[in-house]
Amino acid sequence: MTAPIVRFAPSPTGRLHVGNVRTALINWLYAKGQQGKFILRIDDTDTERSTKEYEDALKVDLEWLGLVWADTFNQSDRFGEYDAAAEKLRGMGLLYPCFESADELERKRKIALSRGRPPVYDRAALDLSDEEKAKLEAEGRKPHWRFKLSGERVEWNDLVRGPQSIDTSSLSDPILIREDGSYLYTLPSVVDDIEAGITHVVRGEDHVTNSGAQIEIFKALGGTAPDMAHTPLLIGADGQGLSKRLGSLSMGELRAQGYEPMAVCSLLAKIGTSDNVEARETLDQLVEEFSFDKIGRAPARFDEAELLAVNATLLHALPFEAVKDRLAAVDPRAADEAFWTVVRANCSLLPDVAAWVETVFGTITPVIDDEDKEFVTTAAGLLPEGELTGETWSQWANAVKAETGRKGRGLFMTLRKALTGQDHGPDMGALLPLIGRERALERLQG
Ligand code: GLU
Repeated sequence: MTAPIVRFAPSPTGRLHVGNVRTALINWLYAKGQQGKFILRIDDTDTERSTKEYEDALKVDLEWLGLVWADTFNQSDRFGEYDAAAEKLRGMGLLYPCFESADELERKRKIALSRGRPPVYDRAALDLSDEEKAKLEAEGRKPHWRFKLSGERVEWNDLVRGPQSIDTSSLSDPILIREDGSYLYTLPSVVDDIEAGITHVVRGEDHVTNSGAQIEIFKALGGTAPDMAHTPLLIGADGQGLSKRLGSLSMGELRAQGYEPMAVCSLLAKIGTSDNVEARETLDQLVEEFSFDKIGRAPARFDEAELLAVNATLLHALPFEAVKDRLAAVDPRAADEAFWTVVRANCSLLPDVAAWVETVFGTITPVIDDEDKEFVTTAAGLLPEGELTGETWSQWANAVKAETGRKGRGLFMTLRKALTGQDHGPDMGALLPLIGRERALERLQG
């Protein structure tokens, strides 16, 4: 088998979100595992809605995730090629002008439905004579252009969905060119896939029907259709579609919240597959584990709680060197190896360290219940002399126990709440030296 060439083809009309990143990731993992090539195609034929800012942002997002591309190009630079392909199809009688307005099409659709027929375009435009077309154009009507489907079955063996068969007689001839001359993605995509030698089109299952038409366009333009893989869509933990929440699930948003890129990749590579979701530290591990055979047919469930759990697991194993700069950006006091090593197990997201910076180095409100006041004062007097070390806590606790007779929760939780103002947190033995004698004594005074 020759090395695969795949592409990820986002439209720069918004930020990348978990849905399209999953498509990018699957393409990338497959290419990488087969020593193939991953191309980034910018689908910006819709010049009204596409922006350079979104294009730049999606590149930054892909780089952040580590999904580097071997090559990239913009469809907006290739209108000449699309025009040539359209001309070729016209010459073959496979691209024909239609003059129906949106209202007329809607009316036809409703009539078909009311008669119990599928709302398939009736090809009335094919019956227009040259004079009729000339007359319509003279009236100022501009045509949109449809591809003439063969009416036969199109079949392919989908790498995710298995054998597929689409009866093109049940489909409307797809519009390839709008009234204003702009291209829908259907034709440019095929033209580019042929030219780039794309071997596998991997995308969401919302494109399955398009694939029926596109396979016919590949053939008409003299290309061979690539292999196809259509992945099930993402749903939320509640079983609902994610479309309304994709804004908050954009890479920009997840990154701003402090998520690790490998948490996003670990989760998106595994949901909807036969593998369990587990934190992976490198993309190479995900490459090793990737196979189209593992992707199921059911929608993939994206659960933010699971993303957070994966993120926490990754964070807990991150060495100081790997996060030093990001810690400093949260708070200069956080860029301290001993501090990070102690608090990381209590952080799910890296910015969670901010609260621990306050707990350790800042000002807190000690929590000392009235009945514990005397006990805490006694304990303060027993704090071992000299520098506080990793041993101090247990030495101190022993001394306090011997003096007061308290043990267990009544001793440890009482001191924790007095020293940190909280009833949970990192190991006190490790935390105490960071808090230091001065702050510890001050807090024990309430
Ligand atoms: N720009 C199209 C989309 O994002 C590309 C689809 C494809 O991968 O062919 O839906």
